[in-house]
Amino acid sequence: MSNNSEIEVFCPGTIANVSCGFDVMGLALDGIGDRMLIRKSNQKGISITKIEGQNLPLETQKNVAGVAGLKLLEHLNSDQGFEIEIYKNIKAGSGIGSSAASSAGAVWGINFLLGEPLSRKELIEFAMEGERLASGVAHADNVAPALLGGFTLVRSYEPLDVISLPHPSELYATVIHPQIEVKTADSRRILKQNITMKQAITQWGNVGGLVAGLFTEDYDLISRSLEDVIVEPIRSILIPEFDRIKSSSKEVGALGCGISGSGPSVFALSKGEATAKAVAEQMKNIYIPLGIDFEIHISKINTEGVKQL
Ligand code: ADP
Repeated sequence: MSNNSEIEVFCPGTIANVSCGFDVMGLALDGIGDRMLIRKSNQKGISITKIEGQNLPLETQKNVAGVAGLKLLEHLNSDQGFEIEIYKNIKAGSGIGSSAASSAGAVWGINFLLGEPLSRKELIEFAMEGERLASGVAHADNVAPALLGGFTLVRSYEPLDVISLPHPSELYATVIHPQIEVKTADSRRILKQNITMKQAITQWGNVGGLVAGLFTEDYDLISRSLEDVIVEPIRSILIPEFDRIKSSSKEVGALGCGISGSGPSVFALSKGEATAKAVAEQMKNIYIPLGIDFEIHISKINTEGVKQL
């Protein structure tokens, strides 16, 4: 729905890092996302008038949608005011880009209603300001795929250089979200600040392999490259039964399995929906006896990013 003064927006969930690409790789999901209504208002600035589905701050400066949107308006020197309604499906702290969905949705919707002065790529740096509020770091690995769709690579942060990568059409993601909260800020704090040369060599070999596999649609190469020797060994400690989820997903054919963003969600990539569903069954069978609530999403890779509904 849209006219010149109001738009309804789908804001996709995203998987950041994608195993080997800590802080640089990300992908967008189709099967899970938020909805937002953005409308022009006579009041200057941004007011968040409604949030459903999650208990999040309505104050503009405390909500990532408000902060990202204001940065964009400031840059555009615009006096136009906006009201935002947020309907959350992605839980905050899930590791499926909850804050990124709101930041990306806000800047894309506002830019649309202002006649699209900026491209999707140009909007990334403003959405990153929302991430700075959520986690203390203006990372782009969720907001880039949320805005551009598909797989993205942040080749450089200074200056910002984001590359859209192709992917094979039969690629599916299965994501399990155990209903325990892991704050991005906390899961960043436990990371080591130094790595060995051996780890670095393994990791950049895998990032190169993943990018090559996506370009050449080589599922085996994608599979071999979905390994993370730097972050996963530390962060996986925060996720109940991570090792079993990973090994049993691969047993039924997943190409790879890792932590989604900063967790606690765990993702697996598979060739074809049938395998993605079999992976979901494995994940369920492990989690049900634990007595921890969880949600599972099976999704194609979203090729469009944020879009009008
Ligand atoms: P995720 O990795 O799923 O985005 P984060 O832990 O990075 O989760 O971000 C969630 C944090 O951002 C929470 O502290 C939450 O209160 C804050 N936040 C502010 N506005 C929003 C919003 N519109 N959507 C989601 N989280 C928000």
